[in-house]
Amino acid sequence: MDERAESILKNAPRARRRLLAWFARHRRSMPWRERPSAYRTVVSELMCQQTQIATAIPYFERWTRRWPDFGSLAAAEESEVLELWAGLGYYSRARNLLALARGVVARGGPPETAAGWRTFRGVGPYTAAAIASIAFGEPSAVVDGNVVRVLARLTGDRTAFRDAADAVRRLQPLADAFLDARRPGDFNQAMMELGSLVCRKASPDCAACPLRKDCASAGKEAAVIPRFTPRRRREETVDRALVVRGGRVLLHRHPQDARRLAGIAEIPTVASLGLRPAGPLVVTHRRSIGDVAYVERLHRPEKDAVLSRRARGPGFSWVPVASLRESAVSGPHLRWLLRLLSPAGPKARGRRP
Ligand code: SF4
Repeated sequence: MDERAESILKNAPRARRRLLAWFARHRRSMPWRERPSAYRTVVSELMCQQTQIATAIPYFERWTRRWPDFGSLAAAEESEVLELWAGLGYYSRARNLLALARGVVARGGPPETAAGWRTFRGVGPYTAAAIASIAFGEPSAVVDGNVVRVLARLTGDRTAFRDAADAVRRLQPLADAFLDARRPGDFNQAMMELGSLVCRKASPDCAACPLRKDCASAGKEAAVIPRFTPRRRREETVDRALVVRGGRVLLHRHPQDARRLAGIAEIPTVASLGLRPAGPLVVTHRRSIGDVAYVERLHRPEKDAVLSRRARGPGFSWVPVASLRESAVSGPHLRWLLRLLSPAGPKARGRRP
């Protein structure tokens, strides 16, 4: 640990007190914070892994009304679980949550340590530490993107991290030492809340920060820390067919044993329909997954070609536009479809949906 980290730790008791006092005043109200339990903490942590809090809240409320504890979730069917998850994306989280509930029931109760939680699929070090500290008071420090930002700025760390995992690995020892072991759950939430509300990525509000007196970057170059080495991504183009007939849209569901998106529907690729990228281009979307930058082009293929035998083959189905939200459709594709097929959407809906 370098000199700056040591100086932060020297004043840690004062910084912890200030941070916890700030959290008591500014913590946002969230349903899982109101009546905390191991189950509600686990569900919220898995839901928020790749989803913004505001998006996750209505799902959390529906989910916990339907399955209020590990036992009721363990008895659910996978198809129901996927349906309730529809629209949140990253469906492996829903399957992992179901498997986790069954595992908890099988072992006679939830584990109380981060090490115990890490034995479940889909629960990494961050999630395990969050659950163990919040639900069971174990002194395990969480390090997510918010905490990385706060710690790197506090210490003025100008290291160019390779990626998020590299930053987490390097800052974990400092997070462990900075943690308030008497109130680890509140402290972890306070650090994440501070990163989210005050020590924001592009516009840190140092004047409102309870840690400004101890911070090496306060009011200076905070916005350029942490630094990451630019990532090189390979580009891949995927051509898809947007086909809407009589109020229904043609989707293709991935097989249950697929490595990615098992059981989840997407807008079919033109190749899966035995077509070539032809017909008017409706829209182009760009998104990155890991090291790949995807360019996804949505075409409107010719009627005759689309009504080929392939579209009636395994995995294809015509889903009513009105019930897209209740179907297990991948998150980005659901958003694109709702945008394109809603009454105010662009000309893509040229054929009556
Ligand atoms: S003083 Fe500014 S840069 Fe430092 S932790 Fe607070 S908000 Fe972040």
